[in-house]
Amino acid sequence: SSLPLRDPDLLRQRALVGGRWIQADGDQACEVRNPATGALLATVPDMGAAETRRAIEAAQAAFPAWAARTAGERAQVLRRLFDLMMAHQDDLAVLMTAEQGKPLAEARGEVAYAASFIEWFGEEARRLYGDVIPGHAAGKRLLVLRQPVGVVAAITPWNFPSAMLARKLGPALAAGCTVVCKPALETPFSALALGVLAERAGLPPGVLNIVTGRDAAAIGIELTTHPAVRKLSFTGSTAVGRRLMAQCADGLKRVSLELGGNAPFIVFEDADLDAAVAGAIASKYRNSGQTCVCANRIFVHESVYESFALKLVDAVRALRVGDGLAGPTDQGPLISAAALAKVEAHVADALARGARLALGGARHALGGTFYQPTVLLDVTPAMRIAHEETFGPVAPLFRFRDEREAIALANDDQAGLAGYFYTRDLARAFRVAEALECGIVGVNTGLISTAVAPFGGIKQSGMGREGSKYGLDDYTQIKYLCLDVG
Ligand code: ADP
Repeated sequence: SSLPLRDPDLLRQRALVGGRWIQADGDQACEVRNPATGALLATVPDMGAAETRRAIEAAQAAFPAWAARTAGERAQVLRRLFDLMMAHQDDLAVLMTAEQGKPLAEARGEVAYAASFIEWFGEEARRLYGDVIPGHAAGKRLLVLRQPVGVVAAITPWNFPSAMLARKLGPALAAGCTVVCKPALETPFSALALGVLAERAGLPPGVLNIVTGRDAAAIGIELTTHPAVRKLSFTGSTAVGRRLMAQCADGLKRVSLELGGNAPFIVFEDADLDAAVAGAIASKYRNSGQTCVCANRIFVHESVYESFALKLVDAVRALRVGDGLAGPTDQGPLISAAALAKVEAHVADALARGARLALGGARHALGGTFYQPTVLLDVTPAMRIAHEETFGPVAPLFRFRDEREAIALANDDQAGLAGYFYTRDLARAFRVAEALECGIVGVNTGLISTAVAPFGGIKQSGMGREGSKYGLDDYTQIKYLCLDVG
C-alpha cells in the first residue's frame, strides 16, 4: 500500500487475539478496497467461529486482573490511548479516508471525536460510585456496588469506523470489562490501528481483542452464544440488531443496540432560514449522508418552503465532491455498489410518485460509487424515501401546514433516534422537543454528537445510551450488599 503514513506500523494487516497479532494464511485473506478508487488497500485475516472462540477465551482470561486494577490505573491507560490517538490523528485520518471514503477533514474530526470517548470514560472510571442506603432495620447496613459486566462483544459498522468502536471501548475498559470486537469488513484498519495504539498505551494482552473475517454471521453466533460473553454492544442495521438480540436471548446476555434512524428535520415558519440551511447541510451531507442521525425527512412549513428550498439548493451546489485523499472535499463516494443502488432506487421511486428534482439526481461524473448531492421537492409519505433510511446524499423536502401536522409526520415512523427542528419560539421549542418520539433532539442545530451527552434511540432505533455519565450503566451491573452488624 502506498498510503502517506508517518507511522506505517499503524496499517496492521493482522487480527489481535490475546495480545498476539494473527496473520492470514495465504488464500484466506479478505481484501479491503478504497471506495473512492476501487484500489486494493490491504488485507485482513478471514477468521471464523473457532478464532472468535479463542478471542473470547483470551478476553475471559484477562478479565479478573483488569477488573481488579484500580479505576485510577485503568484511567491512566485510557489517558495514554487518548494522547496517542491525538498524536497520530493525521495517520488515523488517512487510514480512515482510504478505507471509508469520507473527506479527510471529516476523518480528522472523527478521530478526535473517537478519542474524546476514551478520554471521557477514563475520567468517568474514577467516579463509578456506588451507594450507601439508610437501613430498613436496626443493625442492617445496605451498600450498592457497581461492578463490570465481564466480557463484552462489540460489533461495529463501516460509517464511523473509529468512533463507533471508541464509544464502546471507552466505557467497557473504564468499567473493568474486557472486549472482543468485530469491525465491519469494509473498514477494519481504523479498528486495528486502535489496537496497535492500545498496546502502546499499556493495555494488557487479552483486554482488547479484534476479530476480522468475511462470515459476520458465524462470528456473530459465537459472540452471542458463548457463555463467557456477558454483554453485546452493537451498532448497525435494525435487521441485524434484531437478529443479534434474539441470539442473545437464550444466554440472557445484556444488549445495547444503536440501530437505524430516520431523522425528521422540521423547519417552522419562524425559523432562522440561513441557520436551518446550515444545519441541514451539516446533518444531511456529512459522510455522504451515511450516518444514522442524518436528516432523512426535511419537513418545511408551506410559507417558507420555496425560500428554504432555494437557499438549500444554493448551499448544496457548492459542495465539493471527490476522493478525500486527492484534495479538499466535502463529500466522498458511497461505501459500496449496493449503497449506490439503494440511493438510485429511492430517487427513482420518489420521481415516479411525483417528486420534483431540484438538484442532482444521478451518479456523479467521477464514476465508481460517487453520487451527486441531491435535493428533491414535493416529497410525500407515500414514497419509499419517507420510511426507509436512504443512507445517501439526498435531501427530500416535505411540506406541512401547522405544528400539529409536523409532529404527526415526524413521529409517523418506527425509527426514533435523532430529530431536529428550527424555531425562534421558546414555548414551541419545549412543546415540540417533548412531543418528538426520539432519543436525541437538536433544537436550532444539526450537530448533536458529543462524548459528554447520551446518544441512543427509542422505538426500533434500539436501546442503551453511549457517551455521558449514563454510558457506563450499560457496562456495569449493580450488586446490593446487605450486612447484619448486630
Ligand atoms: P450496514 O448495513 O451498515 O452494513 P450491518 O448491520 O449489516 O449494517 O453491519 C454492521 C455490522 O454488523 C458489521 O460489522 C457487519 O459485519 C455486522 N454483521 C452483519 N450481519 C451480521 C450477523 N448476522 N451477525 C453478526 N454481525 C453481523
